[in-house]
Amino acid sequence: MIDAGTRLYCVFGNPARHSKGPVIHNAAFKDKGVNAVYLAFEVQDAAGAVQSVRTLDIQGASVTIPFKESIMEHLDWIDPAASAIGAVNTIVNKGGVLKGYNTDCQAAVAPLIPFGISGKTVCIVGAGGAARAVAHGIAAQNGDIIITNRTEQKGRALAEAVGARFIPGNKMADIPADVVINTTSIGMTPDVDQISFPPEAIRSEMVVMDVVYTPLKTRLLRTAEQKGCTTIDGLSMFIAQAAAQFELWTGIIPDVDLMRNIVIKN
Ligand code: NAP
Repeated sequence: MIDAGTRLYCVFGNPARHSKGPVIHNAAFKDKGVNAVYLAFEVQDAAGAVQSVRTLDIQGASVTIPFKESIMEHLDWIDPAASAIGAVNTIVNKGGVLKGYNTDCQAAVAPLIPFGISGKTVCIVGAGGAARAVAHGIAAQNGDIIITNRTEQKGRALAEAVGARFIPGNKMADIPADVVINTTSIGMTPDVDQISFPPEAIRSEMVVMDVVYTPLKTRLLRTAEQKGCTTIDGLSMFIAQAAAQFELWTGIIPDVDLMRNIVIKN
């Protein structure tokens, strides 16, 4: 029941109306008996969003596109790992001190760890916010990273930051990858026929992961599945980063199967 003791959590983004955050966090609050509610706020600027956290004593927030970088300068403390990545996706309000964390990085790597990353050639398609989290996570696991991106300058900058090689988009088919990770929005609803990696370059031995989770089976994952590859969908990362946020906020480990099932149902 919502009452005077109910604490507020939220997501800041623009757009934010499509966010699955409210569905999973509210289900987890209910499941764990936490008197809290999570709402989606479509905001215009990072400074105003952070001010509202202070004014309303919001206990925690998820941060999504396009504020993951611009929010950082308004917080009181940034976790060193988030500083290295250059992006914050989680705000924790610790008694009025606003702390910034990045749970995307660990979440991106977690589903890949069972397949082994150390020494594997990992091709990361994209060089935006998601790519940075993924690349830092893979670098921490000693993967041999190749970055490819439409805008060469951004791709080269990320490659340099994580000690990786850069290969231009038109040379993607030549990349000898063991693991391919799409971190771009290519293939996302409504452009579901687009694919971020050349289908002819996908080989059955590859592990292929997509961070896009609408649709759950992107054309990249469908193609990889048809070729016999191991595939990992974007919901795995999304649930893992949300579960880590929930734990940072409440100190409670949520039921990730419940979170995944509720997203699939909604
Ligand atoms: P971002 O910072 O805006 O970066 C977008 C990236 O996609 C850039 O590398 C951009 O290339 C590339 N790109 C976009 N449209 C393209 C096109 N038509 N052709 C070629 N490249 C294109 O966005 P982001 O925050 O990284 O998010 C990217 C995707 O990841 C979104 O779909 C987001 O929903 C998803 N995501 C998922 C999770 C999860 O938990 N599963 C977490 C975070 C993000 P340029 O550099 O050339 O512009």
